[in-house]
Amino acid sequence: MIPVSDTSVLTRTEAVERHSLLDVRTVHLDLDLTRGPEVFGSTTLIRFACTAPGSATYVDVIPAALHRAVLNGRELDVATLRDGRLPLTDLAADNELTVEADMAYSHTGEGMHRYTDPADGEDYVYTQSFLGDGPRVFASFDQPDLKARYTLSVTAPHQWAVIGNSLGHQPSPGRWNFAPTPPISSYLVSVVAGPLHSVRAEHDGIPLGLHCRRSLAAHLDADAAELLEITRQGFDHYHRVFRHRYPFGSYDQCFVPEFNAGAMENPGCVTLRDEYVFRSAVPDTQREERAMVVIHEMAHMWFGDLVTMKWWDDLWLNESFAEYMAYSVTAASTRFTSAWTGFAADRKTWGYDADQRPSTHPVAPGTVDDTAQALQNFDGISYAKGAAALRQLVAWLGEDAFLAGVNDYFDEHAFGNATLDDLLRALAAASGRDVQGWAERWLRTTGVDTLRLTGGRIDHTSPDGTPRPHQLTVARYRRTADGTLELTDRVPLDLAADGTAAPLDPAAGATDGTAADLTLLNDTDLSYVKIRLDPASWQTVRSSLGAVPEELARAVLWSAARDQVRDGELAPAEYLQLVADHLPGETSVHLVDAVLAFAHEFVADSAVPPAERPAALAALARVCRTLLARTEGEADRTGLRLVAVRGVIATADQSQAAELRDWLAAGTVPGGPALDPDLRWQLLLRLCVLGAAGEPEIAAELAADPSSTSEEGAARCRAALPDPAAKEAAWQALFHGELSNYLAAATARGLWRPEQAELLDGLTTRYFEELGPAAARRGPALARVLTTAAFPAFAATEHTVRAAEACLADPDLTVATRRGLVDQLDTLRRAVRARALSGQ
Ligand SMILES: [Zn+2]
Repeated sequence: MIPVSDTSVLTRTEAVERHSLLDVRTVHLDLDLTRGPEVFGSTTLIRFACTAPGSATYVDVIPAALHRAVLNGRELDVATLRDGRLPLTDLAADNELTVEADMAYSHTGEGMHRYTDPADGEDYVYTQSFLGDGPRVFASFDQPDLKARYTLSVTAPHQWAVIGNSLGHQPSPGRWNFAPTPPISSYLVSVVAGPLHSVRAEHDGIPLGLHCRRSLAAHLDADAAELLEITRQGFDHYHRVFRHRYPFGSYDQCFVPEFNAGAMENPGCVTLRDEYVFRSAVPDTQREERAMVVIHEMAHMWFGDLVTMKWWDDLWLNESFAEYMAYSVTAASTRFTSAWTGFAADRKTWGYDADQRPSTHPVAPGTVDDTAQALQNFDGISYAKGAAALRQLVAWLGEDAFLAGVNDYFDEHAFGNATLDDLLRALAAASGRDVQGWAERWLRTTGVDTLRLTGGRIDHTSPDGTPRPHQLTVARYRRTADGTLELTDRVPLDLAADGTAAPLDPAAGATDGTAADLTLLNDTDLSYVKIRLDPASWQTVRSSLGAVPEELARAVLWSAARDQVRDGELAPAEYLQLVADHLPGETSVHLVDAVLAFAHEFVADSAVPPAERPAALAALARVCRTLLARTEGEADRTGLRLVAVRGVIATADQSQAAELRDWLAAGTVPGGPALDPDLRWQLLLRLCVLGAAGEPEIAAELAADPSSTSEEGAARCRAALPDPAAKEAAWQALFHGELSNYLAAATARGLWRPEQAELLDGLTTRYFEELGPAAARRGPALARVLTTAAFPAFAATEHTVRAAEACLADPDLTVATRRGLVDQLDTLRRAVRARALSGQ
C-alpha cells in the first residue's frame, strides 16, 4: 500500500528547470492489468532529448515495487528512488529510458482506481492522473509543459474492454494496442478497463462511445439518446465557433465509479462520475447539470488539451473557460435554455462563498508554487467566479471579438502550452481593447464588489478599495392593481472602475413619474457582484418576491437574501419567512432546489439556535407539503414534485415517521412518484435518524438491491442511527479504517445529525484531535471528505470555533486539510454570527 501524501509535490521552479533541459518526444506505455487485485504492471519507454548533455534530472514514479530502470542501455540503481523521484544522471543529447514497475491500485480515486461492483462482483479500473497522481500509473516527466506522443498497450483479462485516449484494437484476446496520440500532457493520459457496457455512435466523422459498468447497462441505454444528442450539439457548436476541428480523433465518454471530480477532460477518453448514469428519477436540473458537464469537458478538448496551461497557476485558463462555455453553449444549443438561472441560483454561490473566505485567491494567481497548492485551486474561484468574469469579458468585448481572439490563441499554440499573457495578447489584438487592464482588475484581485442602492444612487464598493468595472442591467418594477409586479424598464449600465457613485433617477421608467416599487441592480445576472436593495425595494421583495416575472431576476433576489444571511445582515427567521411566503408558489425547479438546500443545510441545521430548530424545520416541511399538494396529479416534467418529496422526507419529524414507514411499505408516495432506489434510501435514512428504523431494515434494503447505491445508502443509514455504538463504529471506519473515498463520504454524511446533538457532543472535540493524522494518512481526496461531509457544521458555537482555530495551529496539517478547515471555519463563524442575530 502506497500512502497518498504530499510527498510527490513538484515545485514550479523545478518544473521550469526541467522544461529548459528536456524535450520529451514519445512515450510507450505498456500496462498489465492481470496481476491480481493489489497491483498492476507498468512498463514505460520514454524517448527524450536533453539540451545539456552530461547533466542530470529525475523521472517521476511512485511504484509499489520498482523492478528495473535502464537509461541509454545503462542499468540504474532502483534503490536511489526517493519521494517519487528516480535520479537520472549523465544524460545524452538523445535518450531512451525504460522503467519497469508494479504499481498499487488506489481506492481513493487517485492514480489507478480499482473497484468491485457489489451488484455482480465484476472489477473495473480507471486512471485519474492529474496533479501528481500520474506517476502512480506510469513513470513520466510529470508536468503540463512536457508534452509527448503516447502509445499505449494494455494486457487485460479476456472478457474486459479497454478504452484509451485514441482508438484501440485487439491483436489477440486480452491484448489491446492504441494508436499514437497527438502531443498531450502526462496528466491527460487515460485508461478505463473492465467488462464495460458500451453504446457506440458516430457524428460528423467522429466515432463516439458511451461506456459504463455492466450493472448500469439498462440505465445508460435509457439515457444514451439524450447523452448522444448533447454530445452532437456540443460538437456542432464548437465546430461552428472554433476554426480548429476536434483534434483527437475518437470521443469516448466513460462513466466510472467512485470518481472524485465531476469529470475529467482526458483527450478522446473523458471520464465522468457514474452517478450521471441515473438509476433513479432526477429533476431536470440534474439532467441539465449532466449536459453541462458533457459540454464542459468537450470545451477542454480545445482549451486545456489542444492548448494546455504551461503551469498550474493558469489553471483558470482551463476551468474558467470550460465552465463559461458549459453554461453559454448549454443555454444556446441544447434544450436546457435556462442554464444561466442555475448558474445564478446555485453554482455562482460557490464562487461568492469562496471569494469571501480567508483562503480566497485571484482567479489568475500570480504564482502557484507547487502541485499541492495547485490542487487546492480547483475551487469556486477557478470555476464559478472565473466563468462569471469571462461572462463580463464577453459582455465587454462582444462575442465575435472574444472568439476571434480565442481562435488566434488556438492557432498560435496548438498542441503546445500557453500562459494567461498569451491569451490576453490575442484577445487585445482581436478587439483593440485594453484587455490587460481589464484582467488586472478582474483576474488579479480577490473579493466581491458590492453595489448598494441608496437615495437613487449606486454606492459601489470593493473589499480592497479598488472597485471593478461592471457591465450590467438595472430593472425597475411597479406593482399593478392586481398585486403582481410589472417590469417598467430595463437599462444597461456601464459602471466605471473608479467606484464613482452613479446616479439612478428613481422616477425614470415609471410613466406617471412615481418611484419604482422595486429597483433591481444586475437583474439579468450579467455581473459578479453583491447587491443591496434600497429599503422601499426590499419591502417590495418581502411582500412580492414571488411576483417578480423573470426567473433569473428572482434568482438574483434569492441570492441577495442568501448572502445577507451569511453576512449577518438578515436574521435567519426573516429568511425563513421569505421562504414560507414565496417558495410554495415558485415554478422554477432551479430556485426551489437551491433555496431549500440553503434554508435547510445552513439556516435550519446551523444558523438558528438549537431551540428554534424544530420550528424552522417544521416551516420548511410546510413549504414542501404545499409544493407537494400543488403538484398533485400534474405531469411532472421538471421534477418539481420530486424535489418537494425529497424535502418532505428530509424535514420529517417524529410525528411523521409512521407516514414515511407507510410510504416505504407501499413503495410509493401517495399520488406518486413510485419509490426508486434513491428515494427508498432517503426515506430509510430519515427513519434511522428519527430512531424509527434500524439494522434489520437496513440489511433488508441492502439485500433487495445489492449495488453501490445501496452500499453507500447503508453506510449513511448505519452512521445516522441514534446509538453510541453505531456512532463509534462509523467513527472508527472514517478516521481509522480504509474506506474508499465514496464509502467514507457516505459514512460522514450519516454521522452528524443536528437532531442527535447530545449524542454527538464528545465527537465534536474528537474530530479536531483526530482529523490531522487521519487526513495525512489517507491523502488529499480523503482530506477533502474529512473536512467537508465529515465536518460538524451543525455545532455552530464559539466552542467549536475555538476548537477549529486550535486545530489550525497544528503545523503538521497537510495542505489539503488546512485549506478544508479554513473554509469550514469561515462558514462556521458566519453561522455563529447568524445565531447571535436570532438571540436579539
Ligand atoms: Zn474542467
